[in-house]
Amino acid sequence: MHRERRRIVIATANPGKFREISAVMADLPIDWVPLSELPPIEEPVEDGETFAENARLKALYYAKATGLWALADDSGLEIDALGGAPGVYSARYAGEPCDDAANNARIVRELAGVPAEGRTARFRCAIALASEDHTLAEADGKIEGVIIDEARGQNGFGYDPHFFVPSLGKTTAEITPEHKNSISHRGNALRAIRPAIERCVRTESA
Ligand code: IMP
Repeated sequence: MHRERRRIVIATANPGKFREISAVMADLPIDWVPLSELPPIEEPVEDGETFAENARLKALYYAKATGLWALADDSGLEIDALGGAPGVYSARYAGEPCDDAANNARIVRELAGVPAEGRTARFRCAIALASEDHTLAEADGKIEGVIIDEARGQNGFGYDPHFFVPSLGKTTAEITPEHKNSISHRGNALRAIRPAIERCVRTESA
């Protein structure tokens, strides 16, 4: 018997994220739909106080807007010496419009004088899958590091050149995208949510 494959929209305008998410989920019986295949949808206001709230809010918003299930993520950097900042404000920490160089300059400035052992930080990522009226699954992931003053590496984006992972002896801008996906907050969150997505899809097609 032929079963319809479930279509799930990946609620991101970032093609790199779309590729990473669909790669981790590639062997599931799901057609992953990019936003670029759908009529334009205005972006939601991300006013949650946590990454998890923002991920749920985006997933529900895009599911309602499209009538499809939607998978959304929210991520950012938490620096202990700054009380968890920039946190949910990571993208626009130095103001609008989003500017990676200005954001990095701000964290380096705010950490001036903080010794190496006080520079602990982590990237966090929350992911949620929603239907039009409720959250179906959620998970999160993180990667621990320390913030260094000097930028190192050309890969990645955002805060990567200043996010040093002691166990690697490198920043996340100095490793390949594949290596980063295998250890990153987003990779870990995706691997954590995968079994729940698989269950949702199989239960509903049983
Ligand atoms: P968003 O989840 O795409 O909205 O990401 C929020 C912001 O967090 C980004 O603009 C970056 O500043 C920061 N961020 C999230 N993930 C990463 C990462 O893997 N490397 C560097 N910066 C990141």
